This record gives sequence, structure tokens and C-alpha cells, in this order.
Amino acid sequence: MDFYRSTNLTHLNPYNTPISEYGEIDLRKELHDILWTEKRGMYLIYRKVRFHHGYPFKCTCWDAFTQEQDVDTTCDTCKGLGYLFDDYIVRGYRSSTQAFSGSPVMEDEGKKLNLFELFYFEHNFISLQSGNNLDIPTTYDKIIEVEMDIDGAISSPLKQRIRYDILSTDAYRLDERGRIEYYRMRTKANPLGSYLV
Ligand SMILES: [Zn+2]
Repeated sequence: MDFYRSTNLTHLNPYNTPISEYGEIDLRKELHDILWTEKRGMYLIYRKVRFHHGYPFKCTCWDAFTQEQDVDTTCDTCKGLGYLFDDYIVRGYRSSTQAFSGSPVMEDEGKKLNLFELFYFEHNFISLQSGNNLDIPTTYDKIIEVEMDIDGAISSPLKQRIRYDILSTDAYRLDERGRIEYYRMRTKANPLGSYLV
């Protein structure tokens, strides 16, 4: 009998995951708490590339003949990205896991940084700000880490520290047809980081 009594969801949750009123694990709430209540998240600039008819919206600096952006000019509109974008201040969680970050390391002002990082974002982290529920992260977007004040606010004027290119965006669901619980992004730091903020 004891066996049956111990078989409940909390025992399946080593990290004390909150359970929703429907008896399901509420990962949305868990990530929200980590980011905002426990303040383990960080403010980041999320550079969302605009889409137009299903394609990333090319900037006027894009060279129509070579299909590449003109790298010789620093474009004020797209900051050299080649696409139009919107910047959103978001909160995310950076998880430097051994398995993914591994050994490659780069230097930034004497500090060692992982070349590969995982970032977690809430399911609605873009649409909350853009107002468009169809806005989802893509691998064209960039994650930009900026200098912070002592009290954890973004410094003014903005000073870019690292720009992360997104290798993949995973919409995590508990089951195939379930709602999106959170986004997990595999990223690679761009050591050049020459993009203007
Ligand atoms: Zn441009």
C-alpha cells in the first residue's frame, strides 16, 4: 500500500516543480519563477529579425546580385546584419551546462567565456512585447548581452558585451500536441562582436 501512496507527481519532480490545478507539471510557472521571483535570470536584448511573406526582411544594403549583405559598409539601419529587426529587452536564463559548453572558451577583457551557451526564454517572451502572437524565435535572431548596473538594470548608454548567434530554437512541450512550455536556444558567442548596439 505504501508503494501506491508514494506514487504521485511530486515524487517525479526532483526540483520541486510546481503542479498546476489540473495535476500537470507547470513548467511555464517554474521558468517564470526562476526568472522573476528567484531573480536567477538576466536582462538581455533580443534582436528579432522581421519576416515578410515568410522570409527574413532584407535591408536595403543587401546586394541583390551576390545575395549577400554588403560587408564593406556599416549600415545604420541593420547594423551590418543584412536584415531589418526589432530589439526587445527580455529576461532569459543562461545555463552554461558542461555537456553543451564543454571546452571551447573565448576571452573577453581577460574573462573566460564559454563559446557555446544555452538560453531559456518564456513561451511568450517575444509576443508579450511585440503584441503579435505569431512572433516566434528564429535562427536569424541574435541574443545580445549588455553591460549591467550594480542594481541589475541595463546600463545607459548601452554597451554590448557579447553577441550570441542562435544555432537552434527548441520549443519545449510536455507532449507532442501540448502547449509550448518554454524556448531553449543553443547559441554560439560571436567573438568579433563588432555589431553596433
Ligand atoms: Zn543594412
